[in-house]
Amino acid sequence: MKTRIYLDHNATSLMRPFVIEAITKAMENCGNASSIHIDGQSSRKLVEGARKALALSMGVTSSEIVFTSGATEAAQLALESAKSMGFDAAFIGAAEHPAVLAYAMQLFENVVIIPLDLAGNIDFEWLDLKLSAAQASNSRAFVAIQAANNEIGTINPLNKISGIVKNYGAALMVDAVQAFAKMPAHDYAGYADWLIISAHKVGGPLGVGALLMAPGIEGARNRPGGGQEKGFRSGTLNVPAIVGFGKVAPFAGEVGEFTSLTACLRDDFESALLSHWPDAVIFGQATKRLTNTSCFAIPNWSAEHLVIALDLEGVSVSSGAACSSGAVKSSAVLKALRAPEQLARCAVRVSFGWNNCKADVDAAINAMLKADARRKQVAA
Ligand code: PLP
Repeated sequence: MKTRIYLDHNATSLMRPFVIEAITKAMENCGNASSIHIDGQSSRKLVEGARKALALSMGVTSSEIVFTSGATEAAQLALESAKSMGFDAAFIGAAEHPAVLAYAMQLFENVVIIPLDLAGNIDFEWLDLKLSAAQASNSRAFVAIQAANNEIGTINPLNKISGIVKNYGAALMVDAVQAFAKMPAHDYAGYADWLIISAHKVGGPLGVGALLMAPGIEGARNRPGGGQEKGFRSGTLNVPAIVGFGKVAPFAGEVGEFTSLTACLRDDFESALLSHWPDAVIFGQATKRLTNTSCFAIPNWSAEHLVIALDLEGVSVSSGAACSSGAVKSSAVLKALRAPEQLARCAVRVSFGWNNCKADVDAAINAMLKADARRKQVAA
C-alpha cells in the first residue's frame, strides 16, 4: 500500500528497481573509466555498454554521444558548440526551459524569441520569414526548440520545423528531455543537429544526461580539464549513473507500454476533473500532447493553495507558478501562450509515470474533492 501518490514525473521520477540494482552493482567497481588498469577498463566497459544501448535506441552511432551531468550541462555544451561553429543568430522557442533560454541569452547577442499561438504551437510562417531574412543578411542562424514541453506537454512537429530550418541552411537544437522514453525516438532524434536528453524523468538516475551531436557538428573544446568525452566534456565520468542511464535507454525505442498506461491515466484524470469542476481549463488540449501530462487551472483556486492542499492529503503535484522571494509568479510557458494572468496563477501540473495506476487517479481526485470542500467551508 502506497503512503503517498506521486504525480510529478515531469519534475523527476522514481528510479526503476532494476536501475537501482544495476547502479548498486556498478558502485562496487572502483576504477576511473579513464585509467588504463583493469579496474579502469572494467568501468570503461560499463560506460561503453551504456553508450551503445543509448545509441541503439536513439538510432545514432555511439560516437555521437557525449555523457554529461544532466540536460542543463548538455544544453550549455550545445549552445557553446553553436557559437564556436560561427552560428550568430539564436532563434529560441518562447516556451524553452531556462537551461536553454537563459543560457542562450547569456551567450549570444542576437537572440530572437519564437512566438507561440494560444494553443502552444509555433508560427511556421513567422519562422520561415525570419530565417529567410537571416539568410539574406548573411547571419548564421540556429533554432532551439523542445520536442515536448515540460509544463503543458505540447509536442512540436519537428519534421515540419526541421524542413524550414534546413531550407535556409540553418541548424536545429532539440531539447528532448521530456520526450525521451515518452515519445518514439524517431519522432525527434533524426531531426536534430544537437539533441539534449536526461535520464531522470523516466525512471533513470538523477545527475546524468547526454548531448548527441549529428555528423558534421563539432563540439566546443573551451572547457579545460581532463579531456574526457573526446575533450567535449571534461570531468571524471559518473560510471554508476551512466550505467543507470543505459538501463532506461531501451525505453526510448519502445514507448508503447509507457504511452498506453499514461494516456489511460491522464484521460481518466481529465474526465474526472471536468466532471467535478466543469469550469476547469486544460492547457494545450487542442494540440498534440505528451500522454503523461495534464496542466489545468480551476478558476479562483490558486495553484499555491491547491498544491499545498494536495500535499497535505499525500499527493505530490506541481504548480505552473514559480515561487520566489515569497511572491508567486505565473509560469513563463503560460505567459508565452498568453494565458490570462489570473488563470495562469491557478495552473497545476499533474504528470504520470511508470509506477502510477488507476487508484492513484482516484486518490488524487478524492484529495481534490476533500480540499475543495474545506476551501469552500473556510470561504463560507
Ligand atoms: N529541459 C527540460 C524541458 C526539462 O524539463 C528539464 C528538467 O526539468 C531540463 C531541460 C533540465 O534537465 P536536467 O535536470 O537534466 O538538467
